[in-house]
Amino acid sequence: MKILEGKVALVTGATRGIGKAIAIKFAEAGANIAFTYRQKNGAAEELESCLSALGVSCKGYAADAADYTVTEEVVKLVQADFGRIDILVNNAGITKDGLLMRMNEQQWDDVIATNLKSAFNFTRSVVPIMAKQRGGSIINMSSVVGVSGNAGQCNYSASKAGLIGFSKSVAKEMGPRGIRVNCIAPGFIMTDMTSALSDEMREAWCKTIPLRRGGNPEDVANVALFLACDMSAYVTGQVISCCGGMNC
Ligand code: NAD
Repeated sequence: MKILEGKVALVTGATRGIGKAIAIKFAEAGANIAFTYRQKNGAAEELESCLSALGVSCKGYAADAADYTVTEEVVKLVQADFGRIDILVNNAGITKDGLLMRMNEQQWDDVIATNLKSAFNFTRSVVPIMAKQRGGSIINMSSVVGVSGNAGQCNYSASKAGLIGFSKSVAKEMGPRGIRVNCIAPGFIMTDMTSALSDEMREAWCKTIPLRRGGNPEDVANVALFLACDMSAYVTGQVISCCGGMNC
């Protein structure tokens, strides 16, 4: 029997990068997958075919994770389509970098809404379902910069630090109902989000990482699989770094 057989996972922002790797990893482990994406561009259909080929049920839902009302509707649809939700991965995220002295209100609001409020939106909607089932695992995608801060990313770092406080609080509230809540703090992972960096900057980053390489999305998906399955049954309220030692 596969480790996530019979489970239903909901992954936000899953049509590329880390979210996509998690959706595929969970499907390989036997989970049925509901996922969200922001814009229709063919990537959702591509992911649906990829997941179906792994022999699981799957469906993509177009939804802005920052929108509370839309999120409530999507979670209702997922519950109607799949009958249960066992795992929630709040993965959707953006950057709008800039030094504090040059950052405008929109950059701040957009990043906080997409990265932090989205996790509230989905968690608030999913938790009653998990509570009724008397169990569930929620995984929030934080970042090493949510722990250590980063010049030029005060909005992003604040959103990722906020996710850690949010996760620890919900872990305390929902532990008695069997719901676990943890964060992953990825370091420098090679996805579209980091592809804007020049080769020189990427090399410079890698030189500072003890394992001397950027991570790949599958490195993060492996940690997510651990947190999603019963192997982490006694782990909640934690932040697990996946950063090649960058944060040690
Ligand atoms: P990515 O840009 O490749 O993927 C992000 C995904 O989120 C995209 O599919 C995007 O469409 C989706 N998304 C963005 N806004 C959305 C919204 N409002 N509603 C729904 N979906 C939305 O980035 P990634 O590197 O795969 O990042 C995934 C997560 O991991 C993010 O939360 C990011 O902050 C976090 N993270 C990434 C790194 C890294 O180095 N790549 C490091 C630490 C944390």
